[in-house]
Amino acid sequence: MTYDYIIVGSGFGGSVSALRLSKKGYKVLVVEKGKWYAANDFPKTNWNFKKWLWMPSLRFFGIMKLSVFKHIAIISGTGVGGGSLVYANTLPTPKTAFFKSGSWKDLNDWENELKPYYKEALRMLGATKNPQLFDADLGLKKVSEDLGIAERFDPTWVAVFFGTPNQTQKDPYFNGEGPERSGCNFCGACMTGCRYNAKNTLDKNYLYLAQKHGAEILAENEVIDVQPINANDGSQGYEVSLKSSTKLFKKHQKIKAQGVIFSGGVLGTVKLLLKLKKSSLPNLSDKLGEDIRSNNETLVSVTGLDKSKNYSKGVAIGSILDTDENSHLEICRYGEGSNAWKLVH
Ligand SMILES: Cc1cc2nc3c(=O)[nH]c(=O)nc-3n(C[C@H](O)[C@H](O)[C@H](O)COP(=O)(O)OP(=O)(O)OC[C@H]3O[C@@H](n4cnc5c(N)ncnc54)[C@H](O)[C@@H]3O)c2cc1C
Ligand code: SF4
Repeated sequence: MTYDYIIVGSGFGGSVSALRLSKKGYKVLVVEKGKWYAANDFPKTNWNFKKWLWMPSLRFFGIMKLSVFKHIAIISGTGVGGGSLVYANTLPTPKTAFFKSGSWKDLNDWENELKPYYKEALRMLGATKNPQLFDADLGLKKVSEDLGIAERFDPTWVAVFFGTPNQTQKDPYFNGEGPERSGCNFCGACMTGCRYNAKNTLDKNYLYLAQKHGAEILAENEVIDVQPINANDGSQGYEVSLKSSTKLFKKHQKIKAQGVIFSGGVLGTVKLLLKLKKSSLPNLSDKLGEDIRSNNETLVSVTGLDKSKNYSKGVAIGSILDTDENSHLEICRYGEGSNAWKLVH
């Protein structure tokens, strides 16, 4: 079977590519290492490591991968929908200072250039201002008041459907073309996977619509090699090798495509391309693997002793405090009972 495009990874980059390409009529295959998850498949708490963590060597096929390096540990998403399954749904648009910094700052007026695309992404992800604050958010609000910057506290824009809690209704976003959705009940469990069909993960928007335009999704398969066919420049397409990421004795597959989109997230893509540069794609840039950065987030855990407060109620990140032009502070919660992180604190 030959495709126009094979897309490696079904996270944000892969899903947007899948929809854009399939809408234009291209024959698209999305290959995803992780599993398909339905609402009921997500764990009730993060103590269910088998369903929370992606550690195939231990037969854990969950939605969050933990990669430990010498100076940093990185968490990322795995599964059909990539990071959207495990992320905290919050959609802040970077501030002006961000667009005017870094090695990209002189290349374009990025803030204005990207404005329409942020607008479109927010529309596609169903971005809505969090309508309800709970104890943890009110704590952050109090901090903002104590610091004299109360005007810089705000509920977050989040990719969550706030209809009537737990009530299912027809697609509210895409003129009936999208899937049914249910209203958020503020259980706080967005980062272990939404069990209530309220989180606007990529399988509910970009990927769902891409499939309607003919894109195919092959889960539980990892792309391990990409070889140009005949000519070295890729003009005759590529042969893509896959191995099962969940079955021990399944034969490897080879599939052909005219083009390949690498969207396996920073860790997935860079690792794969570094391997390919040493073998089938030697002409990849020598800069590959340089200037890698995280999203500059620092996680600080807080334990509350006041039993009258419920810090797990609300969406994962329900409010944000704009501390200065370069930074912000968010309260981030897990659902009740999901306190497995305390093992590493
Ligand atoms: C716990 C958590 C909370 C977060 N909260 C937020 C938030 O609130 N707001 C926000 O904006 N961002 C948040 N993020 C970050 C956000 O999820 C990532 O920036 C985003 O998912 C990156 O998108 P991507 O397309 O680059 O890759 P990903 O979304 O990571 O997708 C890559 C996909 O490719 C697959 N893959 C990798 N290699 C291969 C391969 N060789 N073959 C097949 N498949 C492969 C992976 O399994 C994965 O599914 C959060 C992340 C985490 C982990
Ligand atoms: S708070 Fe609960 S119901 Fe609402 S989006 Fe998050 S996980 Fe789903």
